[in-house]
Parts: sequence; structure tokens; C-alpha cells
Amino acid sequence: MKIELKGISHTYDVEVLTELNLILENHSSVAIIGVSGSGKSTLIRLMSGLEKPSSGEIRINDYDVNDETYRKKIGFVFQNHNLFPHLTLKQNITLVLEKTRGMEKELASETALKYLSLLHLDDQVNKLPKNVSGGQAQRASIARALSVNPDIIFLDEPTSSLDPILTHEVLTAVEELKGLGKDFIFVTHVMSFVKDFADYVIYMDQGKIVEQGPPSILDNPEHESLKEFMKKVR
Ligand code: ADP
Ligand code: MG
Repeated sequence: MKIELKGISHTYDVEVLTELNLILENHSSVAIIGVSGSGKSTLIRLMSGLEKPSSGEIRINDYDVNDETYRKKIGFVFQNHNLFPHLTLKQNITLVLEKTRGMEKELASETALKYLSLLHLDDQVNKLPKNVSGGQAQRASIARALSVNPDIIFLDEPTSSLDPILTHEVLTAVEELKGLGKDFIFVTHVMSFVKDFADYVIYMDQGKIVEQGPPSILDNPEHESLKEFMKKVR
């Protein structure tokens, strides 16, 4: 994918992102890391077009990210699964396909089962979110994001509410998606996953991109701030 950030700043009560500039081409799996409050979620929301930056321009794959066409080409997985509680895992997907993509019932059902199966949820499809594990619910959210056949999947700390075993289960499932030809932009604190899965890493501190490069920067950080961060997350 191609990512262009031009002079991105964003302010809530105070400025949380300051003058981000970035041009990336030919990376398919970009990790955003950094301490809490460094602006990772804000950046990923801006890149997915969920929010507009206070100033600057973001283009991804040559689309303005606030363009309706772009919005249809991406999927987003949030920190906590946001499945509809009153619908089964399968219905959570068929509803989206039927309502937002105008897919007919039968194809929607087939598509939902295909993606739930890809995330190893074949025997959970008719359960409500409250009756499956947190890891299974999060995998169903990933299946739902994939079901609309997006070019890019955004994941914002998809395992932050999960224990280590479920975290491993979800991240392994994500790694298996590599062959699908999708691009990924994700935030995580699991550095082993960054090293296995990312082909580019952006390290943020206090609303700025402080260091960036291939995952090998994690083993040989240049900046003191990334060195300190790596000591804490290990
Ligand atoms: P991270 O994901 O790295 O933890 P965030 O992007 O969530 O960082 O937050 C960056 C800063 O912006 C934090 O200081 C946070 O409190 C603030 N912030 C995030 N979202 C909002 C919001 N909707 N309203 C006000 N402040 C916010
Ligand atoms: Mg966050």
C-alpha cells in the first residue's frame, strides 16, 4: 500500500499530533507502537477516515481518506470487539453484508461462514458474543472486518483486553491472514508480533513520529526514547 501523511496535526483540548509527515510505499503491514497517550489511536483513526485531522492531508493508495470510495475499501477492528450483543457471530456479519453492501441473503450467509471458518470459528457461528471467549469474539470482529473484502485492515490494539493465551490465539489467526493479499495497519504492544508480522514500524512519542523503519529498529533503536520504550515492553 501507499501511505502519505502531509503535515498532519490534530488537536482535542490540546495538540495530540504534531506535524506528522510520512511517505511509505510498498509495505503491506505497518505497525504503530509507543506508550499510552502517544497518539497511536488518533493516528490510526485519522488514517481510516473515522476522524478528520485539524490540519494536513492524508492519502492512502492515492485516495483522500475522507472519500466515500476509500471508506468502502477498509475494515477496522477496535480494542474491544464491538459486535452487536443481540446477534450471533454469523448474524453480526450477514447484517453488515446485507445492509451496507446490499448482498443477498444466501451469499451473505456463505460469505460469513467462509470468514468465520478462516478465523477458526466454525463451531461458534450461532453463538451470541456473550457466550464465546474474548478471543473468539475478537476473531469474529476480524472476520467481520474481512467479510466486506477490504484492501486494508486497521487494528487498534485488538488484544489489549485479552489474557496472554487468548492474545496469542488472536495474533496467530491474524498472522495466518498474510496470504490473503490484504494490507494491515495496526497498533499493538506485543513486540514479538510486530517482529513477526510487520514489514515497517512507526514509533510514536508525544504526538510525533520519533523513529521509523523495518522491525530491526526494535533491536537497534537509535533514539533514547525508543530504547527506554523497548526496555519497558519486554
Ligand atoms: P494512544 O492510542 O497512543 O494511547 P491516543 O491517540 O488515544 O493515544 O491519545 C492521545 C492523546 O489524545 C491522549 O492524551 C488522549 O487523552 C487524548 N485524546 C484521545 N482521544 C481524545 C478525545 N476524543 N477527546 C479528547 N482527548 C482525546
Ligand atoms: Mg490507543
